[in-house]
Amino acid sequence: MRTKTLLIIISLLSPLLMRAESRLLLSPDGKLAVNISVEEGVATYSITYDGQQMMLPSRLGLQSNIGDYTKGLTLKEAKSGSVEKHYDMTRTKTSHSDYQANTLDITLLNAQKHPMTVTFMVSNNDVAFRYTLHRQAKDNPKCAIITSEASSFRLPNGTTAFLSPQIDPMKGWERTKPSYEEVYSADAPMTTKSQFGEGYVFPALFHIPNTTAQPQQGKAKAGDGWVLISETGVTSGYVGSHLSDFNTETGYTIAYPMAGELNGLGSTAAGIAVPGSTPWRAITVGTSLAPIVETTISYDVVEPLYEPSQQYEPGRYTWSWLIWQDKSINWNDQVQFIDLAAAMGFEYCLVDNWWDTQIGRDRMAELSKYAQQKGVSLMLWYNSNGYENDAPQTPRQCMNTSIAREREMKWLHSIGVKGIKVDFFGGDKQQIMQLYEDILSDANRYGLQVIFHGCTLPRGWERMYPNYVASEAVLASENVFFTEDAAIRQPFDLTLHPFCRNATASMDWGGIIMNRYLSRDNKSRHSRKTTDVFEMASGITMQSAIQCVAIQPNNLTELPQVELDFLKQLPTTWDETRYVDGYPGKYVVLARRHGDQWYIAGLNAEAQAKKLTLTLPMLKPNQTVSYYTDNQEGYAGLKQLKIDKRGQAKVVIQPNGGIILK
Ligand code: CA
Repeated sequence: MRTKTLLIIISLLSPLLMRAESRLLLSPDGKLAVNISVEEGVATYSITYDGQQMMLPSRLGLQSNIGDYTKGLTLKEAKSGSVEKHYDMTRTKTSHSDYQANTLDITLLNAQKHPMTVTFMVSNNDVAFRYTLHRQAKDNPKCAIITSEASSFRLPNGTTAFLSPQIDPMKGWERTKPSYEEVYSADAPMTTKSQFGEGYVFPALFHIPNTTAQPQQGKAKAGDGWVLISETGVTSGYVGSHLSDFNTETGYTIAYPMAGELNGLGSTAAGIAVPGSTPWRAITVGTSLAPIVETTISYDVVEPLYEPSQQYEPGRYTWSWLIWQDKSINWNDQVQFIDLAAAMGFEYCLVDNWWDTQIGRDRMAELSKYAQQKGVSLMLWYNSNGYENDAPQTPRQCMNTSIAREREMKWLHSIGVKGIKVDFFGGDKQQIMQLYEDILSDANRYGLQVIFHGCTLPRGWERMYPNYVASEAVLASENVFFTEDAAIRQPFDLTLHPFCRNATASMDWGGIIMNRYLSRDNKSRHSRKTTDVFEMASGITMQSAIQCVAIQPNNLTELPQVELDFLKQLPTTWDETRYVDGYPGKYVVLARRHGDQWYIAGLNAEAQAKKLTLTLPMLKPNQTVSYYTDNQEGYAGLKQLKIDKRGQAKVVIQPNGGIILK
């Protein structure tokens, strides 16, 4: 073919070639690369880390009542920039974050030539993106309803998933679902159908095997990819979303609430003022589990929404309800748990449901006074429900309207109560997100910290709401009490959550359990399956600024002094968190720093003892540390351990056991 003819053919083809427009965005260290492309009217993004594919081209876009922004798209402009933030925070895995990201604002026009901007923030191990809708003509529209998103997540072939299914609404106990209390799968093929056909809740963890590396026994291979997907910055201004079921072509897509949530009332769509933005879709990426454990992306792209009315104190709480249940909500039993908190030097005692009828409001004022004389503050349980489920526990209808909250919180403040635990919410619709935010902002006026149970995943809330502490949003300790199956599964759960649920947000697991049996007499019902050091170490591997130590009055005389001494000084706030070793659902070793003191804690969920050589750069070579380890009876033994000259330590974690180095 003559050159001239070839040139003519190329020039004829060029309009077709021009149809794909793409922009590359690199992290500050250049390892994480996001490629955003618009081709044949469809916008996609893909992610590589260190040259390894982490996300295949995945859809961008949304559907709204002011236009379809999923197809017919053209790229109008792309503006790059950068963000640098250095900030302190309380109540999370770290007290300080240095956030540096490169940013790209991609403005797309839809078929009607109406604009939408997709903003990408790319830091060294995190990608966050969100959509912004703009006014179109004559300064209108000023509001929009977003009905669905096309945003999808297509992981490479061979990826396995750690996922918890979304459950159908108004199901389960007293029609309280969904409440993020289903079992996580581990390393399941992506093609596995979700248990209830409703997809999966956030966060979702994915493992991308490195097929070129040699496997190491029981370990993640070097060069394996890890991807954690969640969202952050969800306020009263949006719905909480989750992931759809897997589809071979589109992967997982952002799904909005189910129509049946909140007893069928309210929309599944989100309403925003225009211009306005969606929450951030957040993706953490690494070739080890360290970036997953250590990520602060939930906090880095959000801001505090109001000032704290006072300095809120972290701490530990005792809780009678876990093992003594409803019957224990009486004056005498609560006095025992207040005395127990005082004996342990704990800051709080949580009084669970039915206190208004089984103790009475007048006597609660006396009980709070009694607690304060002992140096303990009370936190009280509330039922959130107005019309969203049948949960019978009282007090009810005290938290669902601003009028009721004002009256209740004023009273709580007057009797010296320092916190509330509000239980049973009805899903992720925007009205429910509004309720969470209203409870938090009202509680701040009265110096009340807030824990949510039977609830959604918190999405950046520790930073956004200064009196927010933690949420359940996990199949928590109460299940270890309810069923032996959950007790058997406990080591799996607690070695999985540091890499997933608790990597994304604070988690109120509800108790380091020290009773050997899940019963008041500590003899009947089923046994606990974990060792004492497992439980003690879980107080470090689990993160919540107010941590439940579900110790029982009988434990004071039953437990070895070494265990009581450890629990008495257990910190609940951390200045730094580091991944040391582990595999989700099998074992975990984390290092957390409180002030100058590092705590290294490990849990083993496997049937064999785990012999590990830990590399501990946070400790000094040749330093001698305290080493808590399981003895033959499952109690804690305390030894000294010398860190070697290379900064390494050899440890053994027993099956369902734990270790602590400090
Ligand atoms: Ca619960």
